[in-house]
Amino acid sequence: MLFAPADLTEEELELQREVRAFLATELPRGTFEPGLGMAAPRDRGFSAKLAERGWLGMAIPVRYGGRDRSAVDRFVVSEELLRWGAPVGHHWVADRQTAPTINRFGTEEQKQRFLPAICRGELSFAIGMSEPEAGSDLAAVRTRASRVEGGWLLSGTKVWTSGAHVSDWFVVLCRTGESTEDRHAGLSQLIVDLRADGLTVRSIPFLSGHRDFNEVVLEEVFVPDELVLGEIGGGWAQNTSELAYERGGPERWLSTYLLVEELMRAHEEVLGTERASIVLGEMVASWWGLRRLSLSVARMIDAAEAPAVQSALVKEMATRFEQDVLACVQELVALEPVRDGDSLLERILFEATLSAPSFTIRGGTNEILRSVAAKGLGRL
Ligand SMILES: Cc1cc2nc3c(=O)[nH]c(=O)nc-3n(C[C@H](O)[C@H](O)[C@H](O)COP(=O)(O)OP(=O)(O)OC[C@H]3O[C@@H](n4cnc5c(N)ncnc54)[C@H](O)[C@@H]3O)c2cc1C
Repeated sequence: MLFAPADLTEEELELQREVRAFLATELPRGTFEPGLGMAAPRDRGFSAKLAERGWLGMAIPVRYGGRDRSAVDRFVVSEELLRWGAPVGHHWVADRQTAPTINRFGTEEQKQRFLPAICRGELSFAIGMSEPEAGSDLAAVRTRASRVEGGWLLSGTKVWTSGAHVSDWFVVLCRTGESTEDRHAGLSQLIVDLRADGLTVRSIPFLSGHRDFNEVVLEEVFVPDELVLGEIGGGWAQNTSELAYERGGPERWLSTYLLVEELMRAHEEVLGTERASIVLGEMVASWWGLRRLSLSVARMIDAAEAPAVQSALVKEMATRFEQDVLACVQELVALEPVRDGDSLLERILFEATLSAPSFTIRGGTNEILRSVAAKGLGRL
């Protein structure tokens, strides 16, 4: 497997400078509470401002409201937003994976209906994959859509559905065919209105006390034919390709970045020690290496390759690194993580401490990613 070395071009560096200047003006440090990575707060107004700059749906065709730009351009913008702790929550899922999935598999009507609104930062989406008995083993989903006149009646339970309580729609992986020996057959994807009749969203508190997780119960929710995404029965392949957008991006190695920046800003006294030089030096070297791998994945996407194995490997290494960063910061400074602490470092340390266990679970656990990599490399 080859990760070709990738550097940013002069145009891409120019885009990076533009995003930095935009953030310094629109969202100056000290005027907002920064969030950790993609779990940062939701702010429709901020998403709309990004959209005005053409920084949402960047790789979507212009005729659907996008900018016909590249995965690397999106990488550049995402990296800067995440490093800044910007409130990316409202548009994150729609921009990262729903828009490209609809662009690839959707009907012309679906593209016209959803893509321009996503690119304007208006519509938000959640992910309806996991179920109580189907997380790693997604082929075990039991949510079922039964054929009725003009559409489908959808029943079942989805779980860990981040943002379902505030999002507009979610894409549901469900069973539409009879069970056969091939568990990957008979699965489909439906675009479901999160305010539809028969749909109940129940909050599940997260470790940190945040209420972003949900259980979504579907009781004979009517989904019209025009909201079937792609092929009936083609859900497994479509879902797998959607997962590829979820892995390997900057959100997998920047979740704890702000901790280090804030440590260096607020605790200059720890920087002079030999131990600090070693720890920070190792962290920066790891970051740089992971960043280059991740950038290389974005270049592969632009070259119309399918870097599923490479993305799985990047996510596996990068999310373990995110957890190591937290441990290193805790080694360098004796601070208690405090929810409403006086300093920003205490507060983000609190968030990071309670959310770090999830880094290697969300988007596919590390055991599963290793298995994807081993199978892709022909070792299993
Ligand atoms: C913060 C966060 C946000 C999330 N948001 C969403 C969301 O928006 N939408 C959504 O659909 N899901 C979401 N999830 C769910 C997430 O995708 C699942 O938690 C994850 O895929 C694992 O599934 P599970 O929880 O059912 O664990 P299980 O699949 O039950 O796994 C339990 C343990 O067994 C191990 N294991 C399982 N199978 C194997 C195997 N074959 N070989 C080796 N080890 C194995 C796993 O690695 C894990 O350690 C979110 C999860 C988190 C933590």
